[in-house]
Amino acid sequence: MENRRGLLTRMRRWALVWLGLLGLIAVVGLGQAIAEDAPRLPPLSAYPLPDALVDWNPDSQDDYFDEITPIEGIGYLVWPDRPVQVYVEPPTDLSDRSQVWSQLVQGAVHDWSLYFPLVLTTQLEDANIAIWRDTPSIQWDANQSPRARSAETRYRIFVDAPDDATSCLRHQMTLIIRPGQSDQHIAGATRHELGHALGLWGHSPLETDALYYSQVRNPPPISVRDVNTLKRLYEQPTRLGWPLVRSPSIP
Ligand SMILES: [Zn+2]
Repeated sequence: MENRRGLLTRMRRWALVWLGLLGLIAVVGLGQAIAEDAPRLPPLSAYPLPDALVDWNPDSQDDYFDEITPIEGIGYLVWPDRPVQVYVEPPTDLSDRSQVWSQLVQGAVHDWSLYFPLVLTTQLEDANIAIWRDTPSIQWDANQSPRARSAETRYRIFVDAPDDATSCLRHQMTLIIRPGQSDQHIAGATRHELGHALGLWGHSPLETDALYYSQVRNPPPISVRDVNTLKRLYEQPTRLGWPLVRSPSIP
């Protein structure tokens, strides 16, 4: 009796092991099927130039495009859909400096809109670029001393409508412009950061360009070199805005 019971227990154990293995094979198979059905990144492709950049043909072709870097795996940070919608944080009260800040920031949006289609929106949920009146995070300089930044720009990349067959990679930009600085520095910092938000992800080595890497006493207007660089940027390919590729599935 003992032996037969022992044999039965062993057989049950083996049955369990085999069931476990079959289960594992099923899970691996399912995982592979899901992986095969997962959307893949679209190929890199360029978009048509905005009209203002098609018409932009200055005498000088000088630019700093070599300083502009694409994002790994994504390509250049160009905006596929235009006009790009810009939200500017509204003033908190009528007398405050926040009124001035708002006007200066909107002025900088207008400056870039001569070269690239930008419109202001009051709806934050529609915004591609959102600009906030706040203090940027502290930056540490070469001597490990804290340095208050005048502004900063961050991007976020996401998949819109992930369940939709035509879902795409999209991006959003968030700008922070510090209010406690002179009028010309608020305007200059916003011009600079908006250049980043339009995809100029890098800096110019010349202080006569809005995208010069450091703050200067008299911030320059948008230069010919800034616009030449923007034009070259918008001739570049990206994966942003193109539909994700899905492998055909069996019905
Ligand atoms: Zn910068």
